[in-house]
Amino acid sequence: MDRAFRSELLAIEAAKRLRTLRPIAAVEGTTLTREGCSAINFSGNDYLGLSQDPALKAAATEAIAKWGTGSGASRLISGNLALHEALEAEIAEWKGTAAALLFNSGYHANIGAIPALAEAGDAVLSDALNHASLIDGIRLSRAAVEVFVHCDMESLETALKKTARARRRLIVTESVFSMDGDCTPLLALFDLAERYDAWIYLDEAHAVGVLGPQGVGLVGKEKIPIDRRHRLIQMGTLGKALGSFGAYIAGSRALCDYLVNRARSFIFTTALPPAAIAAAHAAIGLIRRDSSRQDRLWENLRTLHRALTPQLPLPQSAIVPVILGDETQALSASRELEKAGYFVQAIRPPTVPPGTSRLRIALSAMHRETEIQSLAQAIAKATKSAASLG
Ligand SMILES: *Cc1c(COP(=O)(O)O)cnc(C)c1O
Repeated sequence: MDRAFRSELLAIEAAKRLRTLRPIAAVEGTTLTREGCSAINFSGNDYLGLSQDPALKAAATEAIAKWGTGSGASRLISGNLALHEALEAEIAEWKGTAAALLFNSGYHANIGAIPALAEAGDAVLSDALNHASLIDGIRLSRAAVEVFVHCDMESLETALKKTARARRRLIVTESVFSMDGDCTPLLALFDLAERYDAWIYLDEAHAVGVLGPQGVGLVGKEKIPIDRRHRLIQMGTLGKALGSFGAYIAGSRALCDYLVNRARSFIFTTALPPAAIAAAHAAIGLIRRDSSRQDRLWENLRTLHRALTPQLPLPQSAIVPVILGDETQALSASRELEKAGYFVQAIRPPTVPPGTSRLRIALSAMHRETEIQSLAQAIAKATKSAASLG
């Protein structure tokens, strides 16, 4: 067996696509220690720093003391704790929906809900830059797929016209795109969905905690009125800005009841553990009561923008790409930054299209202004020397 694996690995390595795991020995605020070196992490999704928050830690510890470390079974058998139901009620209230349903991760939500919402005979219209979990969910659905040009509403309209004969049409998009940090034009998307009678599946993974009042996401930022939301399915995760683990779908009671019966990744898996549920519940309470973390994140984004790319528009989210183009340039810039004390991930094909390799900066409310200033200087230096190498 291993001979087969080794030869595959050699092929991956020859294509310069080999990925390896690197252990992190310690986490201290935004500073990580890896392979003996400490550096400030600019590659995490913990946008508000909540994974290290004392209130979340206390809630998780208390939940373990009361309920134990595991939920013991799937929700439909004997794992449906009052904790799960209480978090779902909190999410529904926060999102302004009648109901919400927990999933064990964003990946689970997307591969479970999308096949429950679309099947053979239906059509899914998918943004070209959608996350792998959305793509996998669409594949599992066996619906016909039309990929539209990223955030391009003309291209979406063409796809809607082309799928006029489908039984049902589901537009699938992220609200904040994970590699570019840009937002889908949600109001225009709603106009088209209404005109062509399509449903919208919106993945708010990188928008929750970052955008909108109470960090509720793009739907809140764009003030989509409640009476237009009956064709909207809102998905979000608990593991990024909310500092815990898990995911949810928010919408009508009928939608959630239906998913309980049809989403296989909900039905056939052990319910989320008490610690994760309690931490997520505490996180949502915090961001609803107190906008200071979200405000600080945006202050940090303005600082980075002024220091690094004042000629470009202000970032639309906590994700700021610095496009370098060439793969080896992006990799060597990332390595140089790490030596200088900053973890900034290089992103290259196949994750992004050829010629758009980049550094991907992810900011947190916990970064200090001086750290951001010195990061910007280090990036200017690293990209200059990377360019002279390439
Ligand atoms: C991270 C992410 C997911 C997966 O969420 P997990 O909870 O980490 O499994 C889904 N969709 C998008 C857009 C994401 O960025």
